[in-house]
Amino acid sequence: MREFRVLFIFVDGVGLADPDPAINPLARAATPVLRSLLDGPLALPAPRRTASALLVPLDACLGVPGLPQSATGQVALLTGRNAPAHIGRHLTAYPTPSLAALLEVHGLFGALRRSGISVALANAYTPAYFDAVAARRLRHGAITLHALQAGVSLRTVADLAAGHAVYQDLTNERARDLGAPVPVVAPEEAGRNLGRIAGTHRFTIFEFFQSDLAGHRRLPDAGAVVERLDRFLGGVLEHVDAATTLVVLTSDHGNLEDERTTAHTTNPVPAVLAGARRDVMGGRLRSITDVAPACLRLLAGEAADDDEAGGRMPTQTAAVRPP
Ligand SMILES: [Zn+2]
Repeated sequence: MREFRVLFIFVDGVGLADPDPAINPLARAATPVLRSLLDGPLALPAPRRTASALLVPLDACLGVPGLPQSATGQVALLTGRNAPAHIGRHLTAYPTPSLAALLEVHGLFGALRRSGISVALANAYTPAYFDAVAARRLRHGAITLHALQAGVSLRTVADLAAGHAVYQDLTNERARDLGAPVPVVAPEEAGRNLGRIAGTHRFTIFEFFQSDLAGHRRLPDAGAVVERLDRFLGGVLEHVDAATTLVVLTSDHGNLEDERTTAHTTNPVPAVLAGARRDVMGGRLRSITDVAPACLRLLAGEAADDDEAGGRMPTQTAAVRPP
């Protein structure tokens, strides 16, 4: 029997809100792949089941006052722990020593590797990135930090040039701006590359954060970012084996979906689940702290045939907050 795999596409700063094209680029942009998958745009904070996917809204606030933020949200996604409650607040940008310790002890990559499960981080890192970290102009975000903690190797420009990695902008243009000798690729090609990487590891993660930058207006055209992501997802879905691979697309907090603000939102975030065992996964998700335990359980904690077709997604009303 072929091995079950998970491809985790982390998209920073995307929540679920009303599909109002005037304020929500996810409703305005041309997203044929997402619309086909979900029978509509990636919007509305309500569970949805289609012929090929599940959409489960996840609480990202975790009972802690204030707007959810990236460092605590990503640590919650990666550890299954209530990271903002752990440090008493939502924290932006980079993990503190206390959050780094939480990642080290409870992080998903480490837990998977201790169970003998191969883990890949598909992002490519340029020499300029490592120079900036060495010069303390930049710190590792939660996903990169946890990869290093768990001994997951970081992919390089050479990997990127060979199609064995994906750049964070999906097209390599930003990597070229930083001096990396890599070809510009279409988002679909980047997606196919990610699909191929996901076929060689049991758990693969890719981090995309231009969505959050666009929500903060640090990129000019949020619609273009959404459309690039949609084309990328099309390439991914072309190349992963839906019979063996679960694609999980999720986020750490809302932002992009409401152009009335340049700040984060308290909206629930989507878990878009496509491919193998999506019903089982979907039935276990209520908040962003459920993602890592559900991935770990599916990959390491149970036989692959226990509830293959019988998983049902319960109604998710308890997890849904009004926008
Ligand atoms: Zn942000």
